[in-house]
Amino acid sequence: MTDDEAPGAAVRGANAGEMLRLVATGAAASRADLARLSGLSPSTVSQRVETLIGRGLLREVGAGRSRGGRRPRQLEVPVDTVVIGAVDLGARHARIGTLDLAGRVVESRSLEVRIEDGPESVLGTLLTEVTGLMRGASGPGAVLRGIGVGIPGPVQHSTGRIVSPSRMPGWNGFDVVGFLAGRTDVPVVVDNDANLMALGEHRWQHPELDHAVYVKAGTGIGAGVISGGRLHRGGQGSAGDISHCRVFTADPAPLCSCGNTGCLEAVASGAALVGALRERGLPVQSLPDVMRLIDDGDRHATALARTAGRSIGEILAVVVNFFNPQAVAIGGLLADCEPLLASVRSVLYERCLPLATQTLLIERLGTGADVGILGAGQLVIDRVADPL
Ligand SMILES: [Zn+2]
Repeated sequence: MTDDEAPGAAVRGANAGEMLRLVATGAAASRADLARLSGLSPSTVSQRVETLIGRGLLREVGAGRSRGGRRPRQLEVPVDTVVIGAVDLGARHARIGTLDLAGRVVESRSLEVRIEDGPESVLGTLLTEVTGLMRGASGPGAVLRGIGVGIPGPVQHSTGRIVSPSRMPGWNGFDVVGFLAGRTDVPVVVDNDANLMALGEHRWQHPELDHAVYVKAGTGIGAGVISGGRLHRGGQGSAGDISHCRVFTADPAPLCSCGNTGCLEAVASGAALVGALRERGLPVQSLPDVMRLIDDGDRHATALARTAGRSIGEILAVVVNFFNPQAVAIGGLLADCEPLLASVRSVLYERCLPLATQTLLIERLGTGADVGILGAGQLVIDRVADPL
């Protein structure tokens, strides 16, 4: 807390990224609005606004409505002159896009990738693609301000390095930020895909929620945590990573890629479902094949999905009892699997304190395929507003 913040003042709006967000969403149109919403003193707000204007991230236009005295100038976000790039990498596909400074997607598309081709090849290709998209999106006078990248594995927040990812051969220890920074002259921000999902969904679906857990249930399983209205990364950046939590399983517990047995990821991820169905001789290659079997009413696939949902629910019940979120939202391909979602929901009601569940929202993610790049956009906006 700085000297001029009143005790108990709203924390939101306290940093420059949040000020941009308040203006971009229309919540604030003047310095006075920002001071009121942030709880900061008018002089601090003015200083930060001047800095943002100096960096080309805010501009002043015309005059607002006067409440007596001098008419305040209005603030706006220059959405037409700033372009942000975003990459949301998955095991088989990547979503790339461009966003404006309000964090809205201008253009996006999906590309096929082969994660096993290794980081130099995959990231090099994606950087070329997203840079091309950014150049195409920028009109006269537009400036490229940064690129946000989501990685489907653990990312050490302080360094941007990938640490012990599952199913990403050749990526362990790779310095994503260093690699990309050497190939582009705009800032690059990296985080794991579940954190980007949490940022995108929180910002665009339930910005009013202070505490929420966003689960990405796809080929792997991860979660992102919003606490006090902000992304909670923990000490190293691994907060929310539930993939290697132990769940109850029939003996013998399946072996996980981390070397332990009975991890949530080894039991309930899309990769685990594919593996279990193949062992039974069913012709599945990927998670979409599993989803098709479930849609067709296949008994084994549906039973496995229910069991997976119960396992995810067990871990989430601990999370909900411990953290008391206002919402748990499930995204990723498995969120479209109704039997799995129903199991998650019923275990949460069985295993959580009534006080924790009486107003708890349990829902499917509301933002579509662009949720990761929307989150990447938020990361970049925060970084350019508050450079390191
Ligand atoms: Zn494990």
